[in-house]
Amino acid sequence: MHYLSSDTIHLRTKSIHPKKVKIITLGCSKNIVDSEVLKSQLEANQFNVQHETDRHAPVVIINTCGFIDLAKEESINTILEYADEKKQGRLEKLYVTGCLSQRYKDDLEQEIPEVDAYFGTMELPSLLNTMGATYRDELLGERSIVTPAHYAYLKISEGCNRTCSFCAIPLMRGQHVSRTKESLVKEATHLANRGVRELILIAQELTYYGLDLYQRRALPELLDQLCQVKGIEWIRLHYAYPHKFPLDIIEAMKRHPQICNYLDMPLQHISDPVLKAMRRQITSDETKELIAKIRDMHPEIRIRTTFLVGFPGETQEDHEALCRFVEETKFDRVGVFEYSHEEGTRGYVLNDDVPAHVKKERAEELMAIQQSISAAHNTSLVGRELKILIDRKEGGQYVGRTEYDSPEVDNEVWIESTDKKLQPGEFVIAKITQASEYDLTGMFVKEWK
Ligand code: SF4
Repeated sequence: MHYLSSDTIHLRTKSIHPKKVKIITLGCSKNIVDSEVLKSQLEANQFNVQHETDRHAPVVIINTCGFIDLAKEESINTILEYADEKKQGRLEKLYVTGCLSQRYKDDLEQEIPEVDAYFGTMELPSLLNTMGATYRDELLGERSIVTPAHYAYLKISEGCNRTCSFCAIPLMRGQHVSRTKESLVKEATHLANRGVRELILIAQELTYYGLDLYQRRALPELLDQLCQVKGIEWIRLHYAYPHKFPLDIIEAMKRHPQICNYLDMPLQHISDPVLKAMRRQITSDETKELIAKIRDMHPEIRIRTTFLVGFPGETQEDHEALCRFVEETKFDRVGVFEYSHEEGTRGYVLNDDVPAHVKKERAEELMAIQQSISAAHNTSLVGRELKILIDRKEGGQYVGRTEYDSPEVDNEVWIESTDKKLQPGEFVIAKITQASEYDLTGMFVKEWK
């Protein structure tokens, strides 16, 4: 047994460096969560995992997006970039997973054969297996997050049962599957114990939560339980659906100070012929009634929404109706997408008759309307003292967000702090001194206790 002396064992283990792997995440916050699950599984199998760093790693995994043309293009360009690295001998292995791979696996295998293997959105165990790792059940509910340590996304369900005619997501993510309340509370507790203060609840369709599992809409119940998790200061709601919107969510929001007075609810359009063609299951009047009802129940609420312009058959009148709706409703946050003609969706049988330049003009017109509304909303906050979550330091200033702002998509607050050193993840009170269309400036007042 001489060769197993401690020196030789030391030499042997010393020579086995944990394999370096780099994960690249494209697309939405749901893909970020999938990459975080993958990261923690690989780390549990002794891999040294980097996420989106410039550092080199011999093995690269690209978690792709396949939602619309622009996103698909970005995914394909990223794959080609690393395929070239592989051709140059600078990469040992290249793997591709996520929505684009789920949707176009056969084509991709033919078009870009440099990739060692392509995996779908539900094929984590097989990806791990291919890398010589084993899927660890015991890690369920545990994730090594790649967002800043003080906030994390919590994906409460996968897939979608809706049939919006422009949307390819159900093709890539399948039918709606809710996670159990217990597993979500366990995950939230795990995240809170690691310093997460803000939980951002995401899904393809948030308000559908529980209908499959509990035969009832159970988001308010889940919120009641998540609000008991120690350390979580903010809970934010994204991707609500307007049709049959359960107003008891607003009651839960008023009941719990942790739940931000913020609701993201993509509406896509307001003209009835377009809403019908989009299969949104809601009319213009019902949409307006819902917004008025929510604001009446909870005047403090800030609503983020998303619109889609250039859907087949959208007339100038339809677009003007949408512009008037945005002008009159004065949403707090608005995002605009241009319609992308996606094969396999119900909309694909329609004639993509709105020219690209018209789509672009309509999107720009809507954003221009929103820009002045956003400026007015922000100006109304000047002089107010607001609770701010510090995200980072940039130059001599601290940058944070109010409860009305989600990371990456909404406004930021730039804070002058004369003598007090602030930390990311810290909550402070700041007095708003200036406002622009999409940002605020403020002075540090005191720590939030
Ligand atoms: S709700 Fe509609 S737009 Fe959203 S993921 Fe489901 S089908 Fe797509």
